[in-house]
Amino acid sequence: MSIALSPALVSHLPTGLLVGGHWGPATGGRTFEVVDPATEEVLFDVADASPEDARRALAAAHDAAPAWRATAPRERGELLRGVYERIVARADDIAALITAECGKTRAEARAEVLYGADFFRWYAEEAVRFPGLHRRAPAGANRQLVQRRPVGPALLITPWNFPIAMATRKIGPALAAGCTVVVKPAQLAPLTTMLVAEVLRSELEDRGLPAGVVNIVPTSRAGDATSPLLTDPRLRKLSFTGSTGVGRSLLAQAAGQVLNVSMELGGNAPFVVMADADLDAAVEGAMVAKLRNSGQSCVAANRFLVHDSLAREFARRLAERFEALRLGPGADDGVDLGPLIDSAAVDKVDELVGDASGRGAQVLTGGERLGRKGYFYRPTVLAGVDPDARVSREEIFGPVAPVLAFADDDEAIALANDTEHGLAAYAYTTSLDRAMRLGDELEAGMIGINRGMVSDASAPFGGVKQSGLGREGGEAGIEEYLETVYVAL
Ligand code: NAP
Repeated sequence: MSIALSPALVSHLPTGLLVGGHWGPATGGRTFEVVDPATEEVLFDVADASPEDARRALAAAHDAAPAWRATAPRERGELLRGVYERIVARADDIAALITAECGKTRAEARAEVLYGADFFRWYAEEAVRFPGLHRRAPAGANRQLVQRRPVGPALLITPWNFPIAMATRKIGPALAAGCTVVVKPAQLAPLTTMLVAEVLRSELEDRGLPAGVVNIVPTSRAGDATSPLLTDPRLRKLSFTGSTGVGRSLLAQAAGQVLNVSMELGGNAPFVVMADADLDAAVEGAMVAKLRNSGQSCVAANRFLVHDSLAREFARRLAERFEALRLGPGADDGVDLGPLIDSAAVDKVDELVGDASGRGAQVLTGGERLGRKGYFYRPTVLAGVDPDARVSREEIFGPVAPVLAFADDDEAIALANDTEHGLAAYAYTTSLDRAMRLGDELEAGMIGINRGMVSDASAPFGGVKQSGLGREGGEAGIEEYLETVYVAL
């Protein structure tokens, strides 16, 4: 067990299933292991939910739904505010848990805790703000009442790469809207999400609110456990964050009962550096856009498209910055970059680098594993990359920056949009005209102009094309958990 975790945290950390307000074992006492990616050591054994356990969790969410939707919006808001305060008060402890199961550095993990908590603060404020409409029909014969209702019990499936923020971005708006939830956290990093569920459970209990509002079912059998829920009429909403491939398969299953769905899927973000860009600012932005969570972010810059006149110098400076980074366990002092999540992630990154070099790319720095225990890969810069290399076409999910050159603005935009994905895009330019054109023409749901970071609880996060459906965060996020009902009076 990692010595970075405080004894108080370890002794109170839930490792079971939360169903109807009670933590308990999975059917048959089955468990799975959660491993520290920096040491390859087992951290905890976690209850492994069966399909029957998932059904029990849905039943609890369904039973709690009438009482929860009847609570005053202000009460729901105050619950979320209370949870926000508790999480912020425990930020260091929760950050240590993220570092242990996910590998992030302490600083990054703490930033994620505050970002994640912010969804509760934001939706505490939104819970009392969603509008309706009351007006006379144009023909004058009757009145129209348009109201928003909670859609109903929701299944929330989350990935491992931001184990608090990906969960709170769904739970916050769902609860604010009046929906009860079943959360299916990722197998590789379920513990932080489970700790958040415990904070919610205890806040609900302290306020005398229904116990089954939040349920959580970690499992090593994702498809088996969740498939029966997707055909159960008690489920009314599916919100998924993860890869485009799994998203497609869940969409197909959700079609069976025309489930209300939200999909936050994979990305292949272009990072465009125009001929007139401020190169210092672009390199600084590239460090953030590429290396957050060691490149394991859906909005990570995947391809660096740089004007011919700057490409060589940009790649050289980026390689210099990458080389100066200290790679190691996220819990250690002075570490800039942690490990990848597992050995499969390291193998994939290494394969992509191999494919790119085989097609003529130059490895300016990195390009290899770190020779020690843990899933480490050296931060890598590739120059002269072929647009058809796998590293240009697939989501890398690792600390590898491929640099591709372009000749003019039209080519930059064409290359940037030459992907099935459309989550984030970044562009550096000092021209307002160019910035406006990029804002209009880049096919992405989120565009950072002269910024390497777009995430904010108050802004709509989500993708176009095959990067997803719907938005999380901002005013838009709560809409995903509401449906419109019109009454003619
Ligand atoms: P993933 O393999 O698609 O898994 C995501 C979640 O879905 C996990 O909880 C996983 O469970 C579960 N899952 C897998 N197969 C399933 C099935 N057949 N039925 C039901 N659930 C299933 O993705 P990941 O590797 O965890 O996360 C990385 C991906 O997420 C990347 O593509 C990244 O871009 C994307 N992502 C997108 C956003 C966004 O906002 N757009 C944010 C973060 C990440 P197990 O853990 O048990 O496999």
